[in-house]
Amino acid sequence: MDTKEQIKRSLSIVDVASLYVRLKPSGKNFKALCPFHSEKTPSFSVMPERNTFHCFGCHKSGDIFTMVQEMESLSFPEAMDFLIERFNLPVERRKGEGGSQRPAMDALLAANNKALHHFRANLLDEGEGETARRYLAERGITEATIETFKLGYAVNNWDSLLQHLKREKVNLAKAETLGLLGKSKDGRLYDRFRGRIVFPILSESGQVIAFGGRTLFDDPAKYLNSPESPLFHKSRHLYGFHQAREHIRETGRAILVEGYFDVIALHQFGIKNAVAALGTALSGDQVHLLNRFTDDILLFYDGDDAGIHAALRGVECILTHNVSPRVMDCGKGGDPDDFVRAHGPRGVEELVTLAEDGFRFLLNRSMEGMDPRRPEHKRNALEQVMRVVETITDPIVQEEYRRRTADAFQVDVRHLSDRRHATATAKAAESREPLLVSPSEREFLQSLLACPKILQEVRSLLRDELVGILASRNLLRRLMQRYNDSTHCFEALDGIWKELSDPEAALLQELQLSTKEPETDYAAHCSRIQGCFLSFQERLNKERIREINSRIRVAEREENPKEVLRLMQQKSQYLRQKYNVSKEEPLDQKGARESVR
Ligand SMILES: [Zn+2]
Repeated sequence: MDTKEQIKRSLSIVDVASLYVRLKPSGKNFKALCPFHSEKTPSFSVMPERNTFHCFGCHKSGDIFTMVQEMESLSFPEAMDFLIERFNLPVERRKGEGGSQRPAMDALLAANNKALHHFRANLLDEGEGETARRYLAERGITEATIETFKLGYAVNNWDSLLQHLKREKVNLAKAETLGLLGKSKDGRLYDRFRGRIVFPILSESGQVIAFGGRTLFDDPAKYLNSPESPLFHKSRHLYGFHQAREHIRETGRAILVEGYFDVIALHQFGIKNAVAALGTALSGDQVHLLNRFTDDILLFYDGDDAGIHAALRGVECILTHNVSPRVMDCGKGGDPDDFVRAHGPRGVEELVTLAEDGFRFLLNRSMEGMDPRRPEHKRNALEQVMRVVETITDPIVQEEYRRRTADAFQVDVRHLSDRRHATATAKAAESREPLLVSPSEREFLQSLLACPKILQEVRSLLRDELVGILASRNLLRRLMQRYNDSTHCFEALDGIWKELSDPEAALLQELQLSTKEPETDYAAHCSRIQGCFLSFQERLNKERIREINSRIRVAEREENPKEVLRLMQQKSQYLRQKYNVSKEEPLDQKGARESVR
């Protein structure tokens, strides 16, 4: 009996299909939502008697091998390997039956396995592993979790793994290909992972295909990942997916987080459907991987600006794949790891219930800092949203999002259908009008040109959001890019002209002419621009409040009291901030000073 026949006899199509769909009994057979095409009522049928499947919707049919080949994107020999491994079958694969790529792959996997063994032994070693064990204990990670995620430790020297691989007779060139070893200029091999907690990255079927490492010392690279290799294409894998897959299917939901420790902490607290993209922006392949098991994808990212930005990109990517995600909010400055430790799995469940619809998240974020009364603000924010809407291929979904966008921005939906044309016209019109900069904006730019060094002082204040409200934002951003930290000058200004619109170029020219002799009095400049920033901040606050008011109106129209309440709270925060600014510089005093001038 050949291998194929052996596998066929040991496995039922029910076992294999259950890896990918939820089966419901229906007479002698089983039914499920088809994994090959999207549908709302089940037309995918599994027939145990014939050991085959058939879909009455898309007409795909086949046996256990076809099922695995299609679902895992594998060749036939690879599908056999997959089944043998997945179901632990007592079947010997004969030589010559493997795919042509297999022996090379096997050698690479073997090298990774030897490395994993070494890293795990280090962690358990009484002397070597002590720092690492203490670190993990301090982060509240249990022995069982260490076991589940096969965590290890790379000791802090240059040849610990190298020596181990030599002893184990591992081909060192392969270890270099995998990024386990690096090579110095004089050709000497060394350990790439040093002084790091090691997280093995597993394929869907549980093979060790790469490693991630977090430094326990002062390495400036906090995290280090294996490079791309024949085994590892980071955009196609998700950290924790092997451990989470069954739970994603069971719960019908996947929670996407940012970091290794987020995944690990959530799993430890029983939220086992958490996975993470591997130190990159979410990719289409990763969305597809999740989508095979669920339509309910939640993003649970850090509550800082970087996290919100990443969540926005994630939402865009998921929407583009015709899935509508939800976004969980762990509070300003929070992260999932801390959150689950503080609030437990119930707290996380609550956040799931409160999660914001992904498209609404996108709308709200793009409207932040937008003044609905200013057409160019509105247009920029609209563009951001419509860029995503236009990538959605399902016409009904696209139409729905178009309608919601029009509602939120209070524009006629017909304009959005004809947007490309409208945008071109608006741009052309804008390029003829001069830039309207406020007196404080002008004063700030003049100081900046006269004394570029002040940028050091104010760079942290020039947040994207703040710069975004300035008419000269593009000019300012280009200037900031050209600032040289060591010379305190703007460099390569010659190249700036072609990056500016006509009105921006005119403004810069005018500013350069009107800027007096470069002043050397740094302190004088600093105190001058302080007033400018106060006025920027006040403007930003006004913008925010105006924008929130318009969002409150939308939420009221949508009869969404929760959202209304949330927005009201946000608004009162901004109102308080505004009060603080005024307290520092009371309005009447400012008026008095202005009249003295
Ligand atoms: Zn189908």
